[in-house]
Amino acid sequence: TSTRTITQYMFKILVIGEAGTGKTSIIKRYVEDDFANNYKTTIGVDFAIKPIVWDEDTIVRLQLWDIAGQERYSSLTRVYYKEAIGALVVYDVTNPGSFEAVKKWKQDLDAKVTLPEAIGGGPIPAVLLANKCDLASHSNYAPPQPLGALDTLCQDYHFASWFPTSAKENNNLDEAIRHLVAAILKMV
Ligand code: GDP
Ligand code: MG
Repeated sequence: TSTRTITQYMFKILVIGEAGTGKTSIIKRYVEDDFANNYKTTIGVDFAIKPIVWDEDTIVRLQLWDIAGQERYSSLTRVYYKEAIGALVVYDVTNPGSFEAVKKWKQDLDAKVTLPEAIGGGPIPAVLLANKCDLASHSNYAPPQPLGALDTLCQDYHFASWFPTSAKENNNLDEAIRHLVAAILKMV
């Protein structure tokens, strides 16, 4: 018999972006595989935990922190950002204003949290989610941002990558979050 050492991580991941972009729905879908069309504003639920068997030697527990209705305040409290190691920044492909706001959210993030000094002290890995992509093909909705604009935004604002997602149809959430976790595991 051989002895295997399993490494376990707990990563605090922030889910930020404008109100109504689908942050709570994304967390609910990813953690509980459920979707509710008339979601009430979340107040009081701070985070949900999702365990992932990353590979045969690694277990990762993600703490996904919801903003819980604080989007209106221009900046969130430092407690929310404390010891976060990754972020999902969400916009709604049918809402151009929420795309513009991505810049503000990312700048706010980078101003409030950095990696520990021991691993370089740089910005925490972040992935951009272009959510509600299930609506993008409907002719009465605005098309998603041109792909070039997303690539440029990722470069200029230091996102690891972007993904078109749908919390409604469970599209690409696993892929996007795996990409984020891979970026975090490279740092720790
Ligand atoms: P939050 O304010 O960012 O937490 O957004 P919510 O998760 O509360 O979602 C706002 C609204 O958008 C709700 O009516 C959701 O049902 C809807 N919604 C969220 N994600 C999606 C999606 O991927 N596709 C569609 N069609 N609707 C979504
Ligand atoms: Mg919410």
